[in-house]
Amino acid sequence: MSTKVIYPGTFDPITNGHIDIIERASRIYDKVIVSVAENDPKKPMFSVQERVDMVSKAVSNMDRVTVESFKGLLIDYVRSKKVRVVVRGLRMISDFEYEFQMALMNRKIAPDIETIFMMPKANYSYLSSKLIKEAAQLGADISVFVPSFVEKEIKRKMSNIGK
Ligand code: ADP
Repeated sequence: MSTKVIYPGTFDPITNGHIDIIERASRIYDKVIVSVAENDPKKPMFSVQERVDMVSKAVSNMDRVTVESFKGLLIDYVRSKKVRVVVRGLRMISDFEYEFQMALMNRKIAPDIETIFMMPKANYSYLSSKLIKEAAQLGADISVFVPSFVEKEIKRKMSNIGK
């Protein structure tokens, strides 16, 4: 039986930490669907289409990985895809509380769906899309944190803000 998993997130934008988790998942599972949440309450910097395009570019060399977007409740979406495993990344202890709460809530709603946590390489464990955007806004060099095309997209977006 082949195992399909969903790796959901906002990916605003995708970072080297996300890519590390996708690579790890794709070494274990037959198919990884990276699912970009529209997630309007988070007020993403990039549109859902832009986020999907960046993730697609970042995983273009990984044949077990596909990318799509979804709206609404994660569990409903996971069920609609006939998937039973959700992958999440755990960086620091600070992620733990929120991820634990969410995994248990999802388990209550859908006991047949399991959440699996993966840890990134240690030198990616402090990376977050939010911090990278903040650092870029202040003029920091973010080239070691994201693929170069993502860095360009962040710069382009920032130069358009306020125009
Ligand atoms: P969300 O908006 O759902 O937190 P994110 O796009 O921030 O989504 O992240 C998606 C998933 O990837 C989450 O499980 C998050 O903890 C994980 N993640 C984010 N950055 C990293 C990283 N640097 N290393 C490992 N996991 C990460």
